[in-house]
Amino acid sequence: MRYSILTLATQALQKQQRWPQIIAPEKLKPHYDIIIVGAGGHGLATAYYLSHNHDINDVLVIDSSWIGGGNTARNTTIVRSDYLLPASFALKNFALQLWDSLSQALNFNLMYSPRGYLDLAHSDGELEHFMLRANAMCLGGASASILTNSQIAEKIPALNLDQQSRFPIRGALFQAEGGVVRHDAVAWGFARKSSEKGVHIQQNCAVNKLLTSNGRISGVSTHRGKISANSVLVAAAGGSERLMANAGVPLPMEPINVQAFVTEPIKPVLDHVVNYNAGLSYLSQSDKGELVMGGATDGYLSTARRGSFARLEDTMMRAAQIFPFISNLRLMRHWSGTADIPMDGNAIVGRTEIENLFVNCGWGYAGFKATPAVGWKLAELIADGKLPEMLKPFALSRFTDGALIDDAGIGPYPWLH
Ligand SMILES: Cc1cc2nc3c(=O)[nH]c(=O)nc-3n(C[C@H](O)[C@H](O)[C@H](O)COP(=O)(O)OP(=O)(O)OC[C@H]3O[C@@H](n4cnc5c(N)ncnc54)[C@H](O)[C@@H]3O)c2cc1C
Repeated sequence: MRYSILTLATQALQKQQRWPQIIAPEKLKPHYDIIIVGAGGHGLATAYYLSHNHDINDVLVIDSSWIGGGNTARNTTIVRSDYLLPASFALKNFALQLWDSLSQALNFNLMYSPRGYLDLAHSDGELEHFMLRANAMCLGGASASILTNSQIAEKIPALNLDQQSRFPIRGALFQAEGGVVRHDAVAWGFARKSSEKGVHIQQNCAVNKLLTSNGRISGVSTHRGKISANSVLVAAAGGSERLMANAGVPLPMEPINVQAFVTEPIKPVLDHVVNYNAGLSYLSQSDKGELVMGGATDGYLSTARRGSFARLEDTMMRAAQIFPFISNLRLMRHWSGTADIPMDGNAIVGRTEIENLFVNCGWGYAGFKATPAVGWKLAELIADGKLPEMLKPFALSRFTDGALIDDAGIGPYPWLH
């Protein structure tokens, strides 16, 4: 069924509405051409582009929980491409171009809202670094500008620009195309279109083990039995490390809790996405009026997906420094996800040493924005066997070659990235 205002009106006028199921319930087959482990944004995007760009539909996407139930529908929905290093910038900027027309392509409203992203600088040194980043972005074909405090005040009148505050604001890096995309719609949009083309999507079925034979992948073992495949892609975020290690491919990454928070709804007060950089607190206002906020990692290894008062207090304290009125608001919801963070803070994407076993994980708490671009490029790699230029820097081999992609310049401390 094509979603449109006409379909909505027709369904509304019918006595008994007949919306078809978004994904077709299919029986698991004993063999697929390609199995994708993980029905998050990245796994589903790859399935979608395999079917739509390459006409490869004999694909199973399999997940231990529900569609988008991992980090994809737990994130703060921010998309942007304000990265200094060319590898990071290229993928995220390609993604921004795809986000622009993806709702039409998927016939599913992803609510992409390019409302502008402001990264606040709190020292002259930081502002200088932002200028470097803005120049690199412009050279790469993106739009970026540096805002003075009076320009910031015009965009966000409620922001506290008091120069006597603890970490005064000295300016900002602004990307107009940055914004938010409705995260669960992304997962469901990709799932629906892939399913239409014959891709099977199996929820509530964990993969326990990757099966290999004679140095190549042969399938997966699940609690419902074995399923064979010609190729397997592991896109299981925090679940990837254990699966890959059991298959003899250890991944240099750590699972770390990251939290998000939502206040009660209020009148429109914040038209943009804003990032407070002294510590970390990033905010946007949802269509319902809630303020959506995220903070830094919890700082210790955990797969618990639980909140903690320390991070809650820290994130709120920082948010209240830039928007003092926040201290009067009630917090409505609070959740977390397991960020899968490699040693250099950047994702691991591409082939592995096992023939036809591919991996896409390690996106930590910054990988939602790259979802369509990585899906597109990975589908190209799996279908044509040729490694796209954009994916080359993200190879697992960079941890032995030394060509790390350390955007933050922090070093091998995943929790700090
Ligand atoms: C609180 C928070 C805020 C964030 N904010 C942002 C943001 O604003 N912008 C941004 O760009 N990024 C953000 N991120 C990061 C972003 O959400 C992730 O990088 C991205 O969603 C990763 O997508 P994915 O498909 O790789 O993983 P996931 O969505 O986690 O999908 C992986 C799937 O694999 C499944 N799985 C795991 N193990 C197995 C197994 N053994 N068998 C079968 N299935 C398995 C899981 O159930 C899960 O559904 C945030 C993350 C968090 C936690």
